[in-house]
Amino acid sequence: MKKVTFQFLCSSALLLPLAMTSCRQSKFLVATPKLDVDPLIAHIDSTIRPQDDFFQFANGKWFKQNPIPASEPSNGIFQIIEDTVNAQVLHICKLAATETNPEGSNKQKIGDFYFSGMDSITRNQKGTSDLKEYLNQIDNIKDKDEVFGESAFVNSVSNSTFFNFGVAQDDKNSSKYQVYITQGGLTMPDRNYYTDTDTKAEEIRNKFVCHVEKVFAIMGYDEKEAVSLASKLMELETDMARLSRKREDTRDPFANYNKMSVDSLKRLTPHINWNLYMKGIGLQQVDSVVVGQPEYLAGLDKLVNQMSLADLKSYMKFRFFEGLDTYLDDRTYDESFDFYNKTLRGVTEQRPRWKRVVSLVNGYLGDLIGQVYVDEYLPKGTKDKLIEIGNAIRNEFAERIKNLDWMSDVTKEKALAKLNAVMMKMCSPDKWKDLSALNIDRSSYVRNAMNANKWFNAYNIHKYGKPVDRTEWDMEPQTYNAYYNPSNNEIVIPGCNIIVPGFEKKMADDAILYAIIGGTIGHEITHGFDDQGCQYDAQGNLKNWWTKEDKTKFDEQTKKIVNQFDNYFVSDSLHINGSLTQGENIADLGGIIMAYEAFKKTPQFKQNEIIDGLNPSQRFFLGYAMEWMVNMRPEALMTQVKSNEHAPAKWRVLAPLSNMPEFYQTFGVKQGDKMWRSDKDRVKIW
Ligand SMILES: [Zn+2]
Repeated sequence: MKKVTFQFLCSSALLLPLAMTSCRQSKFLVATPKLDVDPLIAHIDSTIRPQDDFFQFANGKWFKQNPIPASEPSNGIFQIIEDTVNAQVLHICKLAATETNPEGSNKQKIGDFYFSGMDSITRNQKGTSDLKEYLNQIDNIKDKDEVFGESAFVNSVSNSTFFNFGVAQDDKNSSKYQVYITQGGLTMPDRNYYTDTDTKAEEIRNKFVCHVEKVFAIMGYDEKEAVSLASKLMELETDMARLSRKREDTRDPFANYNKMSVDSLKRLTPHINWNLYMKGIGLQQVDSVVVGQPEYLAGLDKLVNQMSLADLKSYMKFRFFEGLDTYLDDRTYDESFDFYNKTLRGVTEQRPRWKRVVSLVNGYLGDLIGQVYVDEYLPKGTKDKLIEIGNAIRNEFAERIKNLDWMSDVTKEKALAKLNAVMMKMCSPDKWKDLSALNIDRSSYVRNAMNANKWFNAYNIHKYGKPVDRTEWDMEPQTYNAYYNPSNNEIVIPGCNIIVPGFEKKMADDAILYAIIGGTIGHEITHGFDDQGCQYDAQGNLKNWWTKEDKTKFDEQTKKIVNQFDNYFVSDSLHINGSLTQGENIADLGGIIMAYEAFKKTPQFKQNEIIDGLNPSQRFFLGYAMEWMVNMRPEALMTQVKSNEHAPAKWRVLAPLSNMPEFYQTFGVKQGDKMWRSDKDRVKIW
C-alpha cells in the first residue's frame, strides 16, 4: 500500500519485513568552475567556526536568508528539489487534465486523479458522504469474527487496523514470497507517544484525544458520544502500544522473524478469525506465516476478547476514516492538518492545494508519471553518470574491505563476494508497473484514493505463490531518495538524485558530485553491511556468514557509534536514540568515507584544482554538508527523533565528519574544538 511519508526523512516505507532502508540525496557531470554564485560559498555563515559546528558553518547563511515557510515543517535542500520536481509533475498533471485522452490510458488516469483533487467544489459538496456506505458496513458487523473480515477490507482500501499484514520476500529464502504479520494499527507515529511520561508527551496525547473527538463528530456522532468514543479509542491504542516492541527492538532481523504454521497462528490468537481475514484480503491456501512479534499478537488477542464489539467497531471506523481524511472536504482536512501538521510538526499554514494534490497523485501514479518525467526532465546521461560513480564507490569499498585490520581473511572473502553481488538499479526501472486495471475518474477524489489503495494491496497480495520478481522498483525516478533492499542485495538510486541546487544550468564539479551522489551510493551499499544488513548473505538470505570473532569486533565498533549518537542532545531532555539510528549512522559513515576515497582518484583532486578559492577537500566536505542542508522546526525535530530511524540532518553532518581524520586536516580541527573526538572515541567500521 502506498503511504505518504513525512518528507525529509528519507525512509522508504516498506510494507513489512524489517530491513529495507532508504536514504536519499543528488546532480551531475564533470567540473565547470566559476559560477556567478557558488552555492558552497554563498551558504557559509562565517560567524561560526567550522571546527565547532560544521553544519551551521556550511549552511547557516542560507538558513538565515530562507526562513522556514509557515506551510512547511522544515526548509532546505529537500524543499528546493521537491519544488523543482513538483513544478514538473504539476505540468505533467495539468497537461493530462486538459487533453482528451483515451479511456483507461495513463494520461487519462493522471489527468482525472489530479482533476478530482483540485475540484474542491465537488469535494466540499460531497463532504464525507462517499464513505457513508463503508462506515455503515462496519456498523453492520454482527460478531467479533466478522470484525476480521472487515478489518481486511479496511487494510486494503485505507489503513492498517490491529496489525500490519502483507506479502514480501521471505527473509530466510529470498527466492520465495512469504506472508508477514507485524505489530501495527496505532494512529500516532510511535508507541512512545502513548507511553512517554514527560509533559510534552502528555500535552500531545491530550491534543490527540481532542482530535479523535472532532473526527467522530465529523462522522456524525453527537458531542457526548464522540467524547466517550475518543476516550475508549485512546485506551485501546494505549494498550496496543504497551504490547508493541520498542522501535529499536524491531531492528534485530532474527528476533523479529518467527515462522509458524497457520494452525499455530490460530492457536496463538484464538479470538482472531484468520480464515475470514485471509479471505477478505484475497489470499487462499496459506500454509505458513512469519510473525514479527508473537507476544504482540497474543496480547492483542486477549484485548480483542475483552473488548466490546461496539468498541472494536468504532476503532475500525476511526482508522478507516483517518486513512482517507486528506481526500475529503476542507472541514475534514482542516482537522487532520491541525493535529498531524500543527501539533506534530509545528506547521501553521496549509500548503497550497495544488502541492498537496500533486504529491498525492504522484504517490499513487508515480510509475505512470515517471515514464514522462524520465523522457522530459532528466538530463541526458544521468544513468551513465550514476553508474560511473556507483562503480567507483564499489571499487573503493572493495579496497577498504581488503585492508580492514579487524576482519579475518575468511570473512573478508565473504564480504567481498556480497559486495560484488550488490545489484545497482540506477535512474529508472527497465519495466514499469502495469496499472491498467486501476479505475480512476473525475467524480470522487476519495474513491480514486480507495481504488488506488486497493490496487496496490492486490498487487502486493497477489505476489504470493509467484516467482520473485527481482526487477521491481519501490521508488520512482522522480523520488528524491534512495534505498537498499537486503532481500535482493540491491541499491536503488532514482534519477532525480542527479539534481544539485545552484547547479541547475551548469554541471557541479566532482567534489560536490562525489560528496552528494557518491555519499548516497556509498551509504546505500553500506546498508548491506550495517547492523541489520550484515546479517543477510550475498543472495539476500538471513544467514550468518561471519566468524564469531569478526562479528564480535564488528559489534564493538557499532556500540561506539550507538554511544556517539546517544550523547547528542536535540533539546535539554531529548537525545538521539543511538540504537534506533545505528543502521543509518553506520551507512552515513561508510558512505562519506568511500565517497572521499573515490573522489581522491579524480583529476580535480589529483591536480588540486582550486575553484572559487576552495581546494578539492574543502569543496568535498562543504558539498557533503549541503546534502544535509535542512533546518527544522522544533516540533518536527522532536517527531523525527521519537519515531524515525534517521538522525536529524545536523547530526548526519557533525557525527560522521567528527570521525574522519581527513576532515580534521582540511579544517584544522584540534583538541578543544567542539567537533574534536579523541582517537579512541573515533568510530571506524568500514
Ligand atoms: Zn539509509
